[in-house]
Amino acid sequence: MNMVELDNLDVKILTHLQSDSRKSFQEIARNCLTSVPTIKSRVDRLTELGVIRKFTLDIDYSKLGVSEAILLVNAKPIAVNRIAQELMGLEEVKELYITSDSDAAIVSRIAGDLQHIISIQDRINLTDVNNIRVISVKSLFRKDATIPLASSSITLTCAYCEKKVTGNAVRKKFDDKDYFFCCDTCEGEFEKKYAKLIAKV
Ligand SMILES: [Zn+2]
Repeated sequence: MNMVELDNLDVKILTHLQSDSRKSFQEIARNCLTSVPTIKSRVDRLTELGVIRKFTLDIDYSKLGVSEAILLVNAKPIAVNRIAQELMGLEEVKELYITSDSDAAIVSRIAGDLQHIISIQDRINLTDVNNIRVISVKSLFRKDATIPLASSSITLTCAYCEKKVTGNAVRKKFDDKDYFFCCDTCEGEFEKKYAKLIAKV
């Protein structure tokens, strides 16, 4: 897989859109100290590259009386792709993973009313399925689609010394924006500088 190289502006834009995909380009441009056309062309590029797949809504299903469950399908390797295709045709299937472990081949998050969720096993061809389980979700603690910026291989530059960050970046929020640093020292220096900037305003 080709890794997409992102610069700091790309990462900032993604962070803004992840926190609220309805944020206006004006607002993002103002926050990133750049122009609206720049933001627009970056978003177009990120969409073309497939980094941004779609702008979605995060719906709280529980408020709509919709149940959520995890579906585990243990199947013979030969059947995995066929079952995945069948499941993807069902509107209850919200996420689907094929794991690299041959024992738990498909893991899927499903949502719908309880009857539909339970009957999901009657709606797929169970040939070559060793085991199928529907585990209902009791409470949802975290559903986060944001990228783990500080612990992934995205190229980041330190917001203070501007050197490439190797290893884990130090992440810190200032004024509700994420900043990344190569080390605690840079973070500390930035914080001092930032405090001065704020004091001037
Ligand atoms: Zn640094």
